[in-house]
Amino acid sequence: MSARWRSGSRLELEANLLQVMGHLTVPNPLLGQDLADFQGLVEELQEPSYRAHQLFESIYRQRVSSVEEVSTWPLRLRQEIADRGLSIGWPKLESRFQSADGTVRYLLACTDGQTVETVWMPQGDGGETGDGSEAGDEASPAARNWDRATICVSSQVGCAVDCQFCLTAQLGVKRNLTAGEIVGQVCALLREQRVSPPEDRINLVFMGMGEPFLNYENFMKAVHLLVEGVGIPESRMTVSTAGIVPRIPDLGREPVRPKLAISLNAPNDELRTRLMPINKKWNLRALIDAARSFPLRTRERLTFEYVLLDQVNDSLENAREVVELVRGIRAKVNLIALNPGPGIAFATPSQERVLGFQQVLVSAGIPAYIRRPRGRDIYAACGN
Ligand code: SAH
Repeated sequence: MSARWRSGSRLELEANLLQVMGHLTVPNPLLGQDLADFQGLVEELQEPSYRAHQLFESIYRQRVSSVEEVSTWPLRLRQEIADRGLSIGWPKLESRFQSADGTVRYLLACTDGQTVETVWMPQGDGGETGDGSEAGDEASPAARNWDRATICVSSQVGCAVDCQFCLTAQLGVKRNLTAGEIVGQVCALLREQRVSPPEDRINLVFMGMGEPFLNYENFMKAVHLLVEGVGIPESRMTVSTAGIVPRIPDLGREPVRPKLAISLNAPNDELRTRLMPINKKWNLRALIDAARSFPLRTRERLTFEYVLLDQVNDSLENAREVVELVRGIRAKVNLIALNPGPGIAFATPSQERVLGFQQVLVSAGIPAYIRRPRGRDIYAACGN
């Protein structure tokens, strides 16, 4: 216990109490805080600002398991942090489901006991793979049994958007994840898999549970920590939205941002409203206008995702409607045959229907890829 508790006068006591309350403004855990936050912390501890850089490096780059392991710090400083009850706040790996295709689905427990899912998808196939990312055009060194891996990250506990073909929707939304809980999913998997970017090629897709654009601030803070702290380039990140339209131009204005994917899923308002009730709030016109105005970078393409539901939105006529919608936008379309699940009242189309749909897009000059389902046997695939 520090000396200030042993002080005398009432005034002094009040001043000390205020100081203690001030300390509580340094939130616990440390994970999720940025360099500026750490700078505030070391200032309070009357330490030079390079200590903040050391802490930032230890937590995000080395991913030490506890404050005691911040080896660049003198012992007394580590002790001081521990005395204040500050901890890193790693999520707990609660369970792990291994798929036959190499995909691993993790259940991570937050400090309040809520759990989220994070999926590890190893091995690229050198092109458009099943993971939703599009970093397949880079040369890849042959290493271990995978040359790159993609982590599918959750942004909320549950989801409020209520898409009719999605299992997460059935949970409703419990709460937003903090920036620390979003970054924590990535760090926990990197530790578990013993890999380290940028040496190891890691892609991130924000396509797990939840709608990232309904948790925009925390999601963006996490992106910054992942780029600046963990060392994953923004060009290897993709965020997918169900169509929270005002956040599309917001993302476009961000100096550091992932690539954008939009869950289109239907080519007209009548059908889209039926499948995605969010379409009542922001219709296709608004969505496509926002997509058209999105400031793409050199060689960047927008992605439209389209979940194919047998006999519902997968006709050749529907494909022609998609062509009309996206014509003129520098975009590609990722086709995802429905991953079925309990309580989902739709069926997966045949391979023939999927290929037919793709053919219409490709013939019209729109790049269209079929996303290979990953980890279907462990309910790790999209929407599960
Ligand atoms: N909320 C965001 C990100 C999560 S969903 C969004 O909606 O984009 C990620 C992708 O999986 C979305 O394109 C979504 O349409 C798709 N998806 C949801 N349920 C699915 C299912 N059962 N089968 C296949 N894809 C599904």
